Parts: sequence; structure tokens; C-alpha cells
Amino acid sequence: MSLNRLFGIISLLLMLLFLALAGKIVDSEWTVYERSTESIPVIRKLHLALQVEEKLVVERGVTNLLLQQDLQDGEAVRARLAPVRVASDEALRNLQQALRDQASPWLALVMRNVLLTEQALAATRQDVDLLAAQPKAQRDPGTVVVATGMIMNTMDVFAPAVAALSSVAIQSDQQFHDGVDSAQLASSLRDVAGQMVSTLTAPIVARRPLTEQERYTFAKLSGQADQLYAVIELQLRGYSHKPDFKAALQTIRDHSLGEGLDLLTNLFVTGRSSGNYDLSPDEMVASYVPRMAAIPHLRDLIVTDMIREAEQRNLRARNFLLATVSLALLALGTFVLLLRVIRRRVLRPIIDATDLFVSLANERLITAIPTPRYDDEIGDMMRAIHVLKAHSQERICLEKEREEMIAQLQATSDTDFLTGLLNRRAFFAQGEQQFGIAQRYRRQLSLILMDVDHFKAVNDQHGHQAGDQVLCKVAELSGRCRRKVDLLARYGGEEFLLMLPEIDLEQGRAVAEKLRGEIEACHFQLEEGVSIKITASFGVVAFDHDDTLENLIVRADQALYKAKDGGRNMVTAMPREPGQGARGSAQDGHDRGRASA
Ligand code: GH3
Ligand code: MG
Ligand code: MG
Repeated sequence: MSLNRLFGIISLLLMLLFLALAGKIVDSEWTVYERSTESIPVIRKLHLALQVEEKLVVERGVTNLLLQQDLQDGEAVRARLAPVRVASDEALRNLQQALRDQASPWLALVMRNVLLTEQALAATRQDVDLLAAQPKAQRDPGTVVVATGMIMNTMDVFAPAVAALSSVAIQSDQQFHDGVDSAQLASSLRDVAGQMVSTLTAPIVARRPLTEQERYTFAKLSGQADQLYAVIELQLRGYSHKPDFKAALQTIRDHSLGEGLDLLTNLFVTGRSSGNYDLSPDEMVASYVPRMAAIPHLRDLIVTDMIREAEQRNLRARNFLLATVSLALLALGTFVLLLRVIRRRVLRPIIDATDLFVSLANERLITAIPTPRYDDEIGDMMRAIHVLKAHSQERICLEKEREEMIAQLQATSDTDFLTGLLNRRAFFAQGEQQFGIAQRYRRQLSLILMDVDHFKAVNDQHGHQAGDQVLCKVAELSGRCRRKVDLLARYGGEEFLLMLPEIDLEQGRAVAEKLRGEIEACHFQLEEGVSIKITASFGVVAFDHDDTLENLIVRADQALYKAKDGGRNMVTAMPREPGQGARGSAQDGHDRGRASA
């Protein structure tokens, strides 16, 4: 796998891992945020419902008092009942309003309870007003009991609304379990306290002793009040460090349950024996009811504290979410930037460098090396590659020069310095190859040995330099006669050799004859306008299957000798005579021929 691909896969995996981690954190904190956002309006609604409950308790107490009093005594109570009813209606309206703000199936159920409560309350009030308008003596005791029952029933109708709101508040955030329970218990305690005073209302209005039932009910309610308080105190252990909670509990214990219940207990003791109560019902209510205000106060404290807690948690969660998302985005951005930097400044240069190294190794020096943009390790590497490239270029140049020099040397060592033709050594080297081919494939091959006639006389008459000029001209004329495949060499002094592959003896003679004619016809221009004429003699032989090159030259030399002997300026083509096999060396043959000459 390529480095680039591997890097891409690892980068992708890292990014996915990071996104999964960030997503998990955001998801978990989003749950906290969502719960706290949901729980705040629910707790507010619960608060409104508990306020309704409290108002209904108050209305029930005042209504009870009204039903126990006669027409003339009831005026003051009736006047007190009006604002109490307004307060109940307002509390119910507030709750309805809050319920309308939000739509959900369970809220619709709560709303249904509220509407039922309103209906029950309206019916109860109608019955109560009818009864209260009659003189007490004419009131049917059974109807009074029914009316009292209806008031209790109104509260029972409303109770499911409180229960539903409490349960949803706890569901939205379990942390509010104790708070919701305590608020509900405080509401119940206020209810029990109201029922206790209601139990004593009828005997005190009638100034009669308590009935057995009333004594039982009062004792039961008194026990319930103590029990409820104990449970509330237990539930609020978590809040005990808060001074306002501590003070509220203290007030309930001392004021509401201490002094308030003491007052009722004294009346209860009197009611158990004589019925000569030292308080009127109004005085009892006026002294008792204000002391109960500490209970809804505690309830409000609990609810307010829960809302504050939920708001703080909501804010914390929101801030945490914002911080997490911002940091995650920042980290992601940095990560992407890092990957880009690594890709751009490390990975890409390494890949480029690899390509460059491969190019250098393959001697493809045209590949451009990028100029390092940063003064870092990769920059150092690029600079080093530049140096390597320069060294490679130098080395290749040197190698080229060396090869050229070798070729030059080769050419020089193969070439006759005066005429530029092949020298004797090169002729033997290249001639052996041609000769080998002719031998192997039994092809035709002829050899011409040419010697300038009376050349010594040219030197003697015109000087050695003029002799050189003549030799060059002879070489030039010979060169014109040859084909590309023919080998033309200066054999020594004023002697030249011409090897003609694929040419038989007769053709060889024709070539020699042509060259002879051209030399004879040529005016050799010397310095200072002097022109001379010369001739040359030719010995021509053809290759036979068992000839060696040396032997062939010996035979050519013999043919040349004949031409010289025959009067010069002539061509002697000499076929191989029987018994004229391979023998002696060219040098030997030549020397012998020369000796004979
Ligand atoms: P023949 O017709 O019998 O060949 O007579 P010749 O004079 O040509 O033969 P000879 O062998 O007597 O003389 C050859 C001369 O060639 C002798 C030598 O001074 C001359 N010579 C050999 N090499 C060179 C050279 O490179 N330059 C010059 N100018 N003369 C050379
Ligand atoms: Mg000679
Ligand atoms: Mg000669």
C-alpha cells in the first residue's frame, strides 16, 4: 500500500474516532440539556397546581365555617369567602394558562382534570350558596354533609392533576424526586392542617362537645400532621445545609405545628369535656390560619429551589455543549490543518523525493527538483537532492567526455595520421571480421594492393612534403572508388590496401583498373603551381576458402610484384595457383615481394 493511501486511511480513521468521541460527549450533555429544558416548565406547572390545591384548602375551610354559621353571623365569613373564591379561580386560571402554553397528550389529561375541578367547584359553590342563604335551623343536616363532601370531592377531582405533574417532573429529571415529593407532602400537610381546623369548626360554632367521630378524626389528623412533618424533614435532608430551608422547617415545627396545633389541641381538650370553648370560630381561624402560612412558604422554597437548580443545570449543560462543540470544531480544524501540513510538508515532499531518487537512479536528470519552500528537514533533503543531481550530472558529463575521448583515441589509433585512412593495425582488425564472414558463409571477397610507382623520385625531385601531398591525393582518389562496406587502408609508405567484400577477382580487377586510370589521369597539384603526373601499380587477388588474411595479402603482393615487373602503371589480377595455400605472414610475403622487387 502506498504511503499516501496509508496516510489517508489512518487520517480518516482518526477523524472518525474523534468525531465518535465528540458525538458521544455532545449526545450525553444534550440529554442533560434537554431534560433540564423539559423539567423547568413542568416544575412551574406543578407549582401552579400546588397553589391551586392550597387555595382549594383555604376555600374549603372558609366554606365549612360559612355552612356552620347562621345567617346573621355568616356575613363576615361570606365577605371573607368572596376573595378566597377569586383566589381559587385565579390559581386555576393561571394553571390553565400554563397548560395551554404547551401541547402534549399528558397535559391534555391534566387540563381535563382542571376543567372537571372547575365544574365540581362551580356546582359545590352553588349548593353552598343555596344552603348558606337559609337560616341555620332550616338547613337540612344531610344536605350540609353532602355540601361538605362535595368540597372534599373537588379536591379529590383535582388530585390526579397534581399527581400527573409530579410524576412527569420526576420523569424529566430523577434528581427532583425528593424535591417534588417534599413539595407534595407540604401541600398534604397544609391540607391536613385545614381538615383539623374544619373538624373543630362545627362544635365550636355550636358550642358543644366533640362527638366521638370528631374526636377520632381530629386525633387521626393530628397524627397524620406529625407523620407528614417527620417525612418532610427526612426528605429535605439534602437541603438542610441551606439556611432558608432550615428556617422554614423550624417555623413549621415551632409555629405551624407547635403553636398552631397547641391551640387546636387546647380546643380539642375543651371539646372532649365541656364544649365551653374560650374562642369563637373566627378567633380560632384568625389565630390558626396565619400560622399555617409557613407550610406553603416551604413548598414555594422547594419549588423555587428546584427551578433554580434546573435552570443552573440547563445553563451549565448549554455552556458545556457550546464549549464542547466549539472545542471539537477547533480540534477538528486543527486536526485537518495538521493533516494538510503533514501531507504538504512531509508526505508530498517524501513522495516527490522518492520520484526524484528513482529519476536520479535511472539517470533521468530532466526531472525538475522543486525549490525547498521551508527551512526544515525536508528543505535540507531537497537541497541534498539538488547536490546529488548536480553530482550525477557532472558524473554523466565526465562519463560522456571519457567515452568521447575513448572514441577519439580509438579513431586516432585506427587512423593513419597523414591520409586519414585506416592504418595497418585497424585494417587487420576490421579486415579479419570481413574475412571471417566471407570464410564462414563462403562469400566472394577480393583484395587490391596498390603501390605508387617511382615514388622515391617524387620525394627526391619535389621534396618530402610534396610527396606527402601526393599520398593524400592518392588516398582521396582511392576513397572515391570505394563503397561503404569496402575497407581502405594505408598499408605502409606509398602502398594502399582495398578489401572488397562480395566482389570476385574480375570485379576487383575492374575496380583497380578504374582507380589506376583516375590516378594516371590526375594532375597532382603541388605548391607554387607545380603539377605532376604519377602512376600506380595494382595487385588483385580473390579469396579462396582456405586462405588466411595474411596469405591473401602475400598473394596480392605477388600480383603487385608482377605488375611492377610488367612495367608498372598496370593491374595484375592473379587467381590462386594450385599449391599456393596459406603460408607465411603478410609481412613476410610483403618483405619477400619487396626483396624480389
Ligand atoms: P617502385 O616503383 O619500385 O615502387 O619505386 P619506388 O621509388 O616507389 O619504391 P621505393 O621503395 O624505392 O621507394 C619508396 C619511397 O617512398 C621511399 C620513401 O622515402 C618514400 N616514402 C615512404 N613513406 C613516405 C611518406 O610518408 N612520405 C613521403 N614523402 N615519402 C615516403
Ligand atoms: Mg613501395
Ligand atoms: Mg613504389
